[in-house]
Amino acid sequence: MSWRYSALCAQVDVGDLFFPEKGGTTRPAKAVCAKCSVREACLAEAMANPNLSGIWGGLSDVERKALRRPRSRTLECTVDGCGMPHMARGYCQTHYNRYARGRAAS
Ligand code: SF4
Ligand SMILES: [Zn+2]
Repeated sequence: MSWRYSALCAQVDVGDLFFPEKGGTTRPAKAVCAKCSVREACLAEAMANPNLSGIWGGLSDVERKALRRPRSRTLECTVDGCGMPHMARGYCQTHYNRYARGRAAS
């Protein structure tokens, strides 16, 4: 898989960040994914492989499982041209974070 050559998590020392213990924080890993140039390809592969655990493409295994449910499959981020899976309030994770930050700032 050629996208793996550009995987940001393979270029920085991430330790066990991408495999947090149950109930552990997923934030540091997601912050790495948010800056990764191959996030969509990574997420697409993880979505197609239900057995993968840990953070892939900015989503935890629990979040990916939720996205695989038929009801949520058609939902996409409402930001123009984004197309990432919808997470909350009509936004993908990235745009929701941006939205939440904006609210905190105002
Ligand atoms: S999206 Fe995240 S898990 Fe996937 S390659 Fe990039 S940094 Fe790694
Ligand atoms: Zn989005």
